[in-house]
Amino acid sequence: MRTPRNHNADAYAGNQKEEMQLSGLILENIDFSYDTTLTLDNIDLAIPAGQFVTLLGSSGSGKSTLLRLIAGLQTPTKGKMSWNGAPIKGTSLERGVVFQDYALFPWMSVIDNIAIAIGKARPATSRAARREEAAEALRKVGLAAAIGKYPFELSGGMRQRAAIARALALGSPLLLMDEPFGALDPVNRARLQDLLLGIWEASAPRKTFVFVTHDVDEALYLSERVVILGSNPGRVIADLDNAHLLNHPRDRQNLFASEAFHAQREAIAELLAADTLQHLSAAA
Ligand code: ADP
Ligand code: MG
Repeated sequence: MRTPRNHNADAYAGNQKEEMQLSGLILENIDFSYDTTLTLDNIDLAIPAGQFVTLLGSSGSGKSTLLRLIAGLQTPTKGKMSWNGAPIKGTSLERGVVFQDYALFPWMSVIDNIAIAIGKARPATSRAARREEAAEALRKVGLAAAIGKYPFELSGGMRQRAAIARALALGSPLLLMDEPFGALDPVNRARLQDLLLGIWEASAPRKTFVFVTHDVDEALYLSERVVILGSNPGRVIADLDNAHLLNHPRDRQNLFASEAFHAQREAIAELLAADTLQHLSAAA
């Protein structure tokens, strides 16, 4: 097995952290417990603004919990978190979320769903401007024709596009996504991955993405950096530089055909398998 390229943990923990005091997401020694069992153990991560990072791990490794902590929906038991130098406390428009359950109001048309979110976020925006911004966000995700439709009239992929449009309309520089494409068929999933990459590449300043998935191929295709969580307790077991695998513009076919991709994929599978085996023997 080829050893995967690892981010230099010390570099991230040390000088980059200093450089990033005012820019990016910093998690320092984060512990989290729901009750007496430790769910997340000493998570230490520095994510520079503009990076596209995936959090990859098996089910139960604490990916959703970690994302909810960053979103400010839950509070760490221990440790410090900041975004662009400001401590993370509660939810904020700075940190937008897209979850797998679409969370659109079923009784409202798609455009109203987004317009109302804009109104809550920026009450000074006029009604007409809210609708115009909502329509613009829907056009960006390819939903121009579905503007007046209700969520139940949309396919899963279209609902997820609408959820992305809402996050875009709110303008958050940091986007937290928890397996947003997990329920989609492979073709729609691939389309939405490309949509997301297009949004990321077109954003100026570059938006920061923290994208949770348990799909290795998805992580390798989307992100410059793959942070792998092991389970029981959830902790970082690897922090891989993936940028060298990615071509610009992204080319799925080239990537999936490349030897470097298969080596990285195998290395990740081995890391995840080793984590599972360790727990099996610990439990025995
Ligand atoms: P993942 O998203 O990686 O599948 P989660 O963050 O959902 O992992 O869960 C991590 C661990 O925390 C699991 O063992 C899960 O059972 C536990 N857990 C998740 N949510 C709760 C909760 N609300 N109360 C108690 N335990 C929870
Ligand atoms: Mg989860």
